[in-house]
Amino acid sequence: MKVKAKKHLGQHFLRDLDASKRIADLLSGHGGYDTVLEIGPGMGVLTQFILPKGEYKTYVVEIDRESVAYLKVNFPVLEGRIVEGDFLRMNLQEWYQSVQSGTPKGRFALIGNYPYNISSQILFKALDYRDLIPEIIGMFQKEVALRIAAPPGKKDYGILSVLLQAFYDIEYSFSVPPGAFDPPPKVQSGVVRLKRNNVQKLDCDEKRFIQVVKAGFNQRRKTLRNALKPLGINFNDPLLDKRAEQLSVADFVRLTQLVENPPVSGE
Ligand code: SAH
Repeated sequence: MKVKAKKHLGQHFLRDLDASKRIADLLSGHGGYDTVLEIGPGMGVLTQFILPKGEYKTYVVEIDRESVAYLKVNFPVLEGRIVEGDFLRMNLQEWYQSVQSGTPKGRFALIGNYPYNISSQILFKALDYRDLIPEIIGMFQKEVALRIAAPPGKKDYGILSVLLQAFYDIEYSFSVPPGAFDPPPKVQSGVVRLKRNNVQKLDCDEKRFIQVVKAGFNQRRKTLRNALKPLGINFNDPLLDKRAEQLSVADFVRLTQLVENPPVSGE
C-alpha cells in the first residue's frame, strides 16, 4: 500500500534510513524511562529503528487513518500500541497510567519526525507534562530546532528557548536536507534532544515567569523596562535596562522575583 502524503497533516515521510536510525539512536534512557511514545509515525520509517530497542515499550500516536491502516498491516508488533488520534488532544497522564495498568512506575520519552505545523504546540504540551517526560527527541524545521537550542545573546533565542531551557538541557544534534524526505519540504530540518534537568520548581511564580518572558520577547528590540510597561512593571534594576534576548533563564527568574516583590525606590 502506498500512502499519498497529505500536506495539511504535515506529512513529509523520511526516506533517509541513516537519518532515521540516527534519530532513534539518540534515545539515551536519560531519567530512567521505560516507555517511548512516537508522534506521527506515518509509515514507520523511524518506528522500525525504535522497536528493536527492547528496553523500551514503544507506542505510537497517529492521526491519519491511512497511515494507521498501513502500520497495522506492516507492524503487527504494534498491536494494541497504536493510539489512533490527535497527540494534542491526548491526556498524557491518563494514557500513561493506562499503559502501565494503573500504577505508573516510571516515565516516558517522546520521539518523532514531527508534523512541523504543530511543533510549538507539541513542545508546549510536553512542558505541561515535563515530570513524566525526561527526554524529548526529534526532528523539527531547522529554524525551530535552532531556536529551541539557542543560548542567550543569539538572535534566535526566544520564548520557546527560555521556557524549554528552564526545565530541559538541549542539544542540537544534526541537520537534514529536504531531499531526505518524500515529498521534500521547503525548509531545512534539524534534530534536537532535550533532557530534563533537575529543576523541580522555579524559584518564582511560574505563571508570572511565562508572562514576563512572553512580554519581553514580544517587543524584543526594546529594553525590558519598555517592553514590560504594559504589565504595569517599573522599578529600578539593571536587568530592566537589558533586552530580553540578553537574559539567561536564571536572569528571568530573578526578574520575575523582582516583579513579584518590587524594590522600594527612592531610598
Ligand atoms: N515519522 C514519519 C512521518 C512524519 S510526517 C516519517 O518520518 O516518515 C508527520 C506525521 O505526523 C504524519 O504521519 C501525520 O499524519 C502525523 N500527524 C500530523 N498531525 C498529527 C497529530 N496531531 N497527532 C498525531 N499525528 C499527527
